[in-house]
Amino acid sequence: MSKIDIRSLLFEELQNELISRGLPKFRAQQVYRWVQQRGVTSFEEMTDLSKELREKLAEDFELRNTEIAVKRVSKLDGTVKYLFRLTDGETIESVIMKYKHGYSICISTQVGCKMGCTFCATGKSGFARDLLPSEMLSEIQTAQRDIGERISNVVLMGMGEPLDNYRNVLRFLELVSSENGLNIGMRHISLSTCGLVDKIYDLADRKLQLTLSVSLHAPNDMIRSRTMPVNKKWNVEELLKSCRYYSTVTGRRISFEYAMISGVNDSDACAFELASRLHGIIAHVNLIPVNDVTGTGYRKSGEERLRKFTAILERKGITATVRRTLGSDIEASCGQLRRRNEQGGTL
Ligand code: SAH
Ligand code: SF4
Repeated sequence: MSKIDIRSLLFEELQNELISRGLPKFRAQQVYRWVQQRGVTSFEEMTDLSKELREKLAEDFELRNTEIAVKRVSKLDGTVKYLFRLTDGETIESVIMKYKHGYSICISTQVGCKMGCTFCATGKSGFARDLLPSEMLSEIQTAQRDIGERISNVVLMGMGEPLDNYRNVLRFLELVSSENGLNIGMRHISLSTCGLVDKIYDLADRKLQLTLSVSLHAPNDMIRSRTMPVNKKWNVEELLKSCRYYSTVTGRRISFEYAMISGVNDSDACAFELASRLHGIIAHVNLIPVNDVTGTGYRKSGEERLRKFTAILERKGITATVRRTLGSDIEASCGQLRRRNEQGGTL
């Protein structure tokens, strides 16, 4: 019989599992703290439990951990990038960024991605599997242990499409924000999606206080369907309708991600069209000069183009910022390091 993934259990579930094994109720509190808050990687580390009990737990439960396979630190800004190895040998990436208000981590939600966006390194390497809630938590715990500092903000913006692993992501959100766990509040969490509209409606109705980022990257279907296959399922109009619903129901501002690709989506006409389509949504646009990904043939827009594009949006009443690129010397953007590792490049 396969063992139970203990780090993915909600507190009540853990309590029931322990009670059904004849253990007193208060043990659940202790074990939950070890697993969720302290982020132990083995049962032996639970030093206030008897050896006998630790062995008993290890018989029925397993700890899904992440191990550091590669670590790179940016000389430019201190950004840290990890390639983590999972229990089954698969690899994923996480990035830690230091801001004035503390440390923020960008975590992966899947090994690879099914969505196939043409500009994205993760999209290019295909899909292997979903991550478990325990593995997403372990990304934070391992990184936190490695840097010796508390991580206060989480963004679900690494490899994978979080809303394509919806059940596990919801469970992760519940665990990571629990008081006896890492206790990272929803207001400190952002989730980025390429636009799975049915899930955006569902998320809105849950009224979680997290920040939603939507990867828009184009003002119309012609351009968006060319770079993001998901647009053929839900087009720009349907996507923006769900965003309007989300911001109305939750009262939260939505961040729209827009990777500026030279000659593809960065013209003045694109800026005007984008502004008019975002009208009436509490929105903020993040412009990101597209990162070089080998084999895409895309080039980032120049400084002047970025300035002009931003100015048009601002004039039309849409707030926009050009996102500063962190860790550009360590291939910090999603999927690049794993892809290079798989292709056998030097690290
Ligand atoms: N799947 C989710 C979250 C992970 S991707 C999503 O697509 O939103 C995280 C962000 O990186 C997304 O906004 C994505 O569009 C962006 N991205 C991917 N490849 C990029 C590249 N080459 N340059 C700039 N941004 C990129
Ligand atoms: Fe997947 Fe996001 Fe990359 Fe698109 S941009 S392929 S949705 S990870």
